[in-house]
Amino acid sequence: MRSYGFESRSGHNFFLRLILMKKILYITLALLIVAPIQARKPRHVLVIAIDGLSTEGLKQAKTPRIDAYLDEAMYTFTSRNVIPSVTLPNWTSHLTGSGPERHGVLNNKWTRQTAELDAVSKDEDGYYPSIFKVLKEEVEDIQVGYYWDWEPLINSMNPRYMDEKNFDKNEDYARNCQKAFDFMTANWEQPTFVFLYTVGVDHAGHKNGWMSKSYIQAIEKVDATIGTLFDRMQENEMYDDSYIIFMTDHGGINKGHGGYSDAEMRIPFAIKGPHIRPGEIPQQHFTVNTAPIIARIFRAETPDVWAGRCNIRIR
Ligand SMILES: [Zn+2]
Repeated sequence: MRSYGFESRSGHNFFLRLILMKKILYITLALLIVAPIQARKPRHVLVIAIDGLSTEGLKQAKTPRIDAYLDEAMYTFTSRNVIPSVTLPNWTSHLTGSGPERHGVLNNKWTRQTAELDAVSKDEDGYYPSIFKVLKEEVEDIQVGYYWDWEPLINSMNPRYMDEKNFDKNEDYARNCQKAFDFMTANWEQPTFVFLYTVGVDHAGHKNGWMSKSYIQAIEKVDATIGTLFDRMQENEMYDDSYIIFMTDHGGINKGHGGYSDAEMRIPFAIKGPHIRPGEIPQQHFTVNTAPIIARIFRAETPDVWAGRCNIRIR
């Protein structure tokens, strides 16, 4: 009987151990399945913003690096910008998902103090809600960089939602590309959003005319500079892991823009990134869709006052 009692206890322990092992197995399996979902890789968005780049200019210039990028991107050459086809209203529309009738930025002279048309919504500092605000408020740990070389560009954006910003008065895009690259590298373990803008192409258009030799050369110079940035990103696998948006605000005609011609109002737009299927964007695309697309990448809600929508499939 004694020996039976011993065996009984031993058998009891064996079953307890079996249950424990099963539990450990289940927990391990659960961790293997759930952990990768929870520890989702941080997302990264880089906006390459080229002022005044017309569809015709992009097609005529020799741009091997942009062409190679476009081969992997969803793109359109006929995106419609907002009226007027002027710089500050259009970049503001890209970054706020709204046209001038909502954000109130009607021209390049716009400031909060001199606005002729009141915005339909404002943050506590008097700015219409931008993608920068949305991301800083909704995306945990996101790091935001803003790089530009035409000073008034930032006037319609609240700088409090930017972690780093750099204005280059010499219009040295290569230098700003380097700064943006360093910022992305330093913050790669966190989500990052970088807006990287240059005005050189637009200035060449105003000086010598859209489609002039120097205008085309300015586009080719930008292509080479972007190529150097892409090389560095490819060395670090950042090129494939980032969503890279390539866009402009308007084209031009003769030595200006602001009118309603296709040369001014039908513009290139492209996005490349994980799971984005290359090819032409099938439906009509709009400048006001940019901010909603970026918000969708970061799974952020967009403000009710925004007009644009995300028309790109993002996984
Ligand atoms: Zn412009």
